[in-house]
Amino acid sequence: MPDLTINCPKCEWAPEPSDRWTCECGFSWNTFETKGKCPNCENQWETTSCPACGNDSPHESWYVDPSIAPPPLSAHDQMLTKRKRLIEAQLIHYGIRNSRISYLPYLDFDESQFQSPYEVGCRILVLWAVAYTASFSEEKPEVKNWLMAVGLWEKVSHAEKLLFQKKQPKRVLIHLTWRLQAMLVLCWCVDLVTELPSLDADVDSIDFESIIDQLPVFDDLGDFLENLHYRAKEEIFIENIINEIATGYFRDNFLGKKTDDSTINDGVSFERHQALNWVRKFGGISEWDETLTST
Ligand SMILES: [Zn+2]
Ligand SMILES: [Zn+2]
Repeated sequence: MPDLTINCPKCEWAPEPSDRWTCECGFSWNTFETKGKCPNCENQWETTSCPACGNDSPHESWYVDPSIAPPPLSAHDQMLTKRKRLIEAQLIHYGIRNSRISYLPYLDFDESQFQSPYEVGCRILVLWAVAYTASFSEEKPEVKNWLMAVGLWEKVSHAEKLLFQKKQPKRVLIHLTWRLQAMLVLCWCVDLVTELPSLDADVDSIDFESIIDQLPVFDDLGDFLENLHYRAKEEIFIENIINEIATGYFRDNFLGKKTDDSTINDGVSFERHQALNWVRKFGGISEWDETLTST
C-alpha cells in the first residue's frame, strides 16, 4: 500500500497533524488518524468537513494515491502552484475560505510592466500631500507651493488637483485621508517600510510618523527619488492579488447582501488594491485616476 496523501477534494487543502475535528459527543481529534472514527464514542463519520473551504466530502475521497496522480507539472506551473497556495493560505487566514484560483496563468505577471521606482517615489509624495492637505486645509497653499517648487505638481492627478482648487465637503476630506494607506503600501514596495501591517491590523496602531520622517516632505528632494529600488516584485504581485480577491469578495457580499466573515479591513484593502494595480499598470493603465479596481 503506497503512502496516501490527504487533500480536501473540493479545494485541495491539506490537513496538518495538529488540525482537529469535533464529534457530536464533544470529543476533538485529528479525524485522519482514525479514518473518521471517533476514538471516544466510536461513531464512524462517513463525511468530513474541510476547515478551509467549509465543504463536506466523503471521508474516503480525501485520500489520494500519489502514484496515480496526474502527470507532474512543468517547473513554471510548479512555481505558479506554489504562488497559488501562498495566496490561498493567506485568504483562508483572513476568513475568506471559498476563493480558489483555478486558472494558473492568472498568477503570471510581467515585471517589466511595473512603474519605475522613481515614479513610485513621486506618487508616495503626492499621496502624502493629498492626505496631509485633507487633514490640514489651512496649509493648502504651502503644500501646493512645495509640490510646484520640487517639480511634483505635474504628478498630481486631475482629480487630486481639485482638492487644491476648491473647498471639499468633509466626507471627501475624510475619504482622502485614507490615501495614507495607499502611500504606506507604496513605501513597502520600494523598501522604505520593511514589514507591511497585516490586513486585519488596527489602523490606529500604524506608526505613520516614522514612515513620513523618511520622506523629504516640505524639503528638497535631493537624491531621494534616484535612490529608490523595488523589493522582490513577486511579493508585490502576491499582495496585489490578495487585495484583488478581497475586493471581489467584498463586492459579492455587498451585491448578495451576505455577511462579511473576513477579518480584513476593507478600506485598507481597497487602497492597497488600487495602488498596486497602478504599480504594475494593470490593464495597461498608468494614470492614477484611471486605475481600475474592478476585476
Ligand atoms: Zn464521538
Ligand atoms: Zn476544502
